Amino acid sequence: MGIFQRREARGLLTKRIQHRRLRRVGTEAALENLAAVVAPLVVVEAINELAELLEAKGEYYYDYENVKRWVLGAGGRSGNCETCIENADQEWIPDDDVFIDSSGDPIDGPPAHPNCTCELEYKEKRVRVYA
Ligand SMILES: [Zn+2]
Repeated sequence: MGIFQRREARGLLTKRIQHRRLRRVGTEAALENLAAVVAPLVVVEAINELAELLEAKGEYYYDYENVKRWVLGAGGRSGNCETCIENADQEWIPDDDVFIDSSGDPIDGPPAHPNCTCELEYKEKRVRVYA
């Protein structure tokens, strides 16, 4: 290996070391940035865990909600109109809510068409309320 080549090799080596150093500094900076981002996430996680712990401890009570559902008449799916079928498909909805007819207008309940034998069914639904 001649002097020139050796010098060139050394220059190459120096460049490599500098490059590696730059990369390390870059990694440290990236880690610092990551820490800044992660810190709030850690707090959020801790709050969520705490909330789960509270729930697991049974920090809730039961409340009752009045609900209703549209029960299809004797015609079943074939003997009923779109309004009846779509409202029946919604299952239980809050008592204060209204159903929607096929033109998008609110409808309190059956009948939705001539000879409609659909009915409303009511019940109380038990719901958990977290303190
Ligand atoms: Zn009907």
